[in-house]
Parts: sequence; structure tokens; C-alpha cells
Amino acid sequence: MIRKKLKSRWAFLLMLMFFYILAWGLKTLPAAADPGIALFLNGVQVKPAVPPYIDANGRTMVPLRFIMEYMGARVDWLEKERGIVVTRGSITLKMWIDSRQAYVNGQSLTLDTTPVLKGDTTMVPVRFVSQAFGGRVEWEEATQSVKITLGGSAGSQVRLTGSYVNIRSGPGLNYSIITTLPRDTVLSFLGEASGWYKVQLKDGRQGWVSASYAQLVGGPSDNGGPSAGGPSEGDTKPPAEDNRPPDGDQQTDGQPLGLAVIGSRPVAVLAGPSPVEKQVGTAAAGSRLPIWEQKGDWWQVEMDDGRRGWLARALATFAPYEPSEKEPNDSQDNLQITGVTVTTVGEAFKVTVKATGAFTFKTSRWDNRLIVDVPGAVLAVSSGQTTVEVNRPPLLRVRLGQYTKDTVRIVFDLNSSVRLRSQPAADQKGMIFLLEKSSLKGSKIVIDPGHGTDPEGRDPGAIGPTGVQEKDVNLAMAQKLAALLKQAGANVYLTRSDEICPYTLSGRAYYANDIGADLFISIHSNASLSPEASGTSTYFYAPEGTALGQQREERLRLATAIQNALVAVLGTKDLGVREANFAVLRNTDMPSVLVETAFISNPTEEQLLNNPTFQAKVAEGIFNGLSAYFAGQ
Ligand SMILES: [Zn+2]
Repeated sequence: MIRKKLKSRWAFLLMLMFFYILAWGLKTLPAAADPGIALFLNGVQVKPAVPPYIDANGRTMVPLRFIMEYMGARVDWLEKERGIVVTRGSITLKMWIDSRQAYVNGQSLTLDTTPVLKGDTTMVPVRFVSQAFGGRVEWEEATQSVKITLGGSAGSQVRLTGSYVNIRSGPGLNYSIITTLPRDTVLSFLGEASGWYKVQLKDGRQGWVSASYAQLVGGPSDNGGPSAGGPSEGDTKPPAEDNRPPDGDQQTDGQPLGLAVIGSRPVAVLAGPSPVEKQVGTAAAGSRLPIWEQKGDWWQVEMDDGRRGWLARALATFAPYEPSEKEPNDSQDNLQITGVTVTTVGEAFKVTVKATGAFTFKTSRWDNRLIVDVPGAVLAVSSGQTTVEVNRPPLLRVRLGQYTKDTVRIVFDLNSSVRLRSQPAADQKGMIFLLEKSSLKGSKIVIDPGHGTDPEGRDPGAIGPTGVQEKDVNLAMAQKLAALLKQAGANVYLTRSDEICPYTLSGRAYYANDIGADLFISIHSNASLSPEASGTSTYFYAPEGTALGQQREERLRLATAIQNALVAVLGTKDLGVREANFAVLRNTDMPSVLVETAFISNPTEEQLLNNPTFQAKVAEGIFNGLSAYFAGQ
């Protein structure tokens, strides 16, 4: 008992001492070190281990990984090159420690100060990084706070209001048109400059749209998304009463029942009208899909590629079907082609097509004709002046004609294959076409190492029995081919030069179209459930009776030249030239091939594919094929 009393007395004393120390400590310890710069992310104060600071150049530096992961981005560190790759939504940013060089979706930019390492933490200039992702930075002097607001999935969006709107490579009419999109397409808003909005395209590219044909709308957090939330102020087309979806089960043969308008997030399309069905596709954010059938709470919709699938009605809004009659070329509606002249520039021909403005066009090839179609245009040239005879190889003559009631066709009659380049006329009144004999030297070739991590996610491709990944061997072979082609004087562009590809699958093809490539070579490795399957094949795509079909001869010749040369060098089993509707082949404007070099699922070929000597042979084979192709074989 005594001991107990003693004990409790001790306890009491100890407690007193504890409180004393605590009180003393509170009074005399310094009131926490200088608080430094406070950091707010989308309105919430956060406390990273390494706080923001201002560097010697006066730039506010912030911890990259902490901020970007908080904002829902993925941050990858590339040890070998001390690089950082940040992927958020469809934007990929790449930069390096101690380097001012940066890439945003493949576009090169220069930083005004370099990223640096503080211990293990990468510190980056806040303004650059936020802007790269379409965000906003504010500095509040009074509270010494940096406030970063990042949009994206919860940020502003741009909805197109013109019936078909041009997306350009820069903020002005003098920039090239990279694509044309229909009314009500919703794109992420990245920024603004003198009456133009910078937008993020779904295939990974960025572009600019005139504010006269677009409208800024709030993010999904405002009102459930631009399509679900109804029109914002100033919209001239509020949803009418008859916009309500039809009731009960319905089916149609002729015209769609209506359109399913997808909101700001992509939606899964399923094989049947039930959530347990497997996914057969994805409806892109902002897209409008024809509804062909209605069953209970489900719509059967037609996807962009023509396939049909089922969509839960709750995931889209209804809009009445309006058949589209116009060609997607609103800005070119009243274009007049007024004349053509031909001059020579060294070995090349310069063909000037005069018009009331610069214009976009589609090219195709047909036997010895190079065809340029100008949509939305009328020919305003007197009948005696629609043909210019040249008769000097490779150009025989140029002819103009009204091909359809709103398409002007320009035909170059040739006697050997040429490379076509174009640029708007200096006065913006028409286009200049440069034609020169094509050769490997000086040609523009896009090499596409299959798979890798793109805006849609990580995709290793096929994986061999011992774990060799297709994406890695494809990249190695592509780089070896690129080196050979560069040595031969070709201009080579890779859709990815490391793990990260800034483009979606179709975006890889659009990239080649954008830069006006002459050829597109996609490099893959094949796979089969059977480990015995082996060999080499080359794919092309050019169905007869379509626009691509006009390149059939050219595409087949390219595929055949590469296949023959490859098998000759590799000694692999010749599986031949094949035709398949692959996205990269379907979406490329220029002749394109997809090479299945060997079977990564075959234990022997897996080891070959992983072997630098074999990889070099693949590069040599494709290179030989390209040389033969340019030699006209
Ligand atoms: Zn593949």
C-alpha cells in the first residue's frame, strides 16, 4: 500500500515536471522556422517536404512530383538521362535536370531556368510547368503564397460553335490547318492569345481555334459538363422540348433515332444492352454518335469506325439527328481558284495555284497522276487556261477542273514519282506546290516504333516467353533504322524516341500527315498463341474504291520492296505482303507500311529480336527496301 502511495506521489511529480517542460518548451522554442513560401493547389494549402523557393534567376521553383501527382498526373523518372516525364490527361511533358530543353507533346520548348535536384526532389519553375498543363499561377505577395490552379478533367473546356471549325497550328489565320472538327466538339482549354483559344486534341496534339467559332465552357464540376449542363450564356440553340429522347424500345432502318452526345469524359461502349457485356469500344468525350436502336435504358450507337455497340442512356444526352450535308470545310466555303503558273527552281517545279485565299487540300495518286483536291472551291479560270503544258521530266502538265460542284481538282501528270511539298503563297492568295523527283536523300520519313506509353496508357505490346517486351525491341530496331536513313540524307522523324509516345495510335498517323511526311514505317514484332509461329510479314492498306485505294499501287510497291529486302537479309520465313486495316495505315495520307519483323512469342525469334545484331539486320533490311522503292523498283 505504501509503495502504492509513494508511486502515485512520484507519478504526480512526474506529471508536474512534464507540464512544466511542455509549457517551458512552448514558450522558449523558436516559433517554427521561417514559414517560407506557402503553396496552394486548386485552392487547398499543401505542405511538400521540400517547400517552394525562389532561385537565383528570380523564378519560383516547386517540387514537381508532389504537385503533379497531387493533380492526378503520372511522373516518371528516367534514370539514365536524368529526365522527367509528366503525363496528365493527353499532355506529356518531358524535361531534364540542368537542361533548358523541354518537350510538350513532342513540341520543343526552351525553359527560362533549368530543373534542379534538391536531394531526391526535382524542383521545377512553377510557371512553365503549370502553363504546360494549361494551368494558372498566382503570386500573393502579402501572404507569400504561390497558388496553382490546374484544369484538365476539372478545368475549362472549349466547345466549337461553327458548323465545321478549323484547328490551326498557331493563333492566326496564317497558321496551317491541322484538322477540322464539327460543331459541339468539346476540347480541353489550354490557354488564350489574341482572340484564339489553345486546345488539346484527343489524339495528343495541340491546336488553336478562333474564339469567333468557339465558346469557353466550365468544367464538369460547374454543372455536370457542357453537354449535360445545357448551353451557357450566349448559345443560340437552347435544347427545345422535342429534344427529349424517344420513349420505349425503338428500332430504325433508315435514319438514326437521334444522336447520343457524350459529355466531357469518354464512355465505354459495350457488346450488348447490359452492364455485364464486354467492352467493344470507347465513345470519345464530346462526340455525337448516331443512335440506331433503343432497348430500355440502353442505346445502340454507331462508333466513328462504323461498328455498333451499346451505351447506357444515363451516360449521354440526347440530341435530334441532323443529317450533315456540308463538307467539313466551312472556312473554305467561298474559295475561288483563279489561275495556275509553273516555274522551275533548280531541278524542281514550282506550281503556283492562285486563289482568293490559302486553302487545304487532299492529295492522292493514281497511276502517273498526282491529284490534289480542294474542297469547298469553285474554278474561276477561263476554259483555255486550265492546262499548263510543261513536258520536262518528271512533270508533263498541270490541269485544273471542277471535279464536283464544290471541289476543284488539280492534276499533275507525271512520268516518274515525285515528292510534293506545299506552302501558302506569301500574299495568302493561293498555294505554292513544289514538285521534285523523289529520292531517299531529302525525303521525309516517319518511323513509328510500335507500342510504348501514350496518352491512352501503358502498352508494352506482345511479351515473349522470357519477358522480352515488344515495345523495347521495336524501339531499338526503329532507332537503328533512323540512324541508317539519316546517314543517307533522309529527314527522319520518330513518333517516340523513348518509352513515351505523345500521340495516340491514330495520332501517330496524324502526326505524319501534319508534317507532310513522304513515307510512314511502323515497326512491330508479331505474336501468336502457338510458340512455333515464326517469320516476317509486311502490311499495307489500300482498299479499292476508296481514297486510299488510289495509292494502292504505291503502297503495295513499298510493302513489297521492304518485305523482299527484309527476308533477304534476315533469312526468316517469308510470310509475305499482307493487307490489313490497321489504324496507322488507315489514317496516313502518304504510303505507309507496318512491318511485323519476327515472332516475339517464338522462343528463338524472341532471342533474335532482343539481339542488337539481329536488330541491326532488320534496320538494314528495311533500309535496303526503301532504297529499292526510291529507285523505282
Ligand atoms: Zn505490335
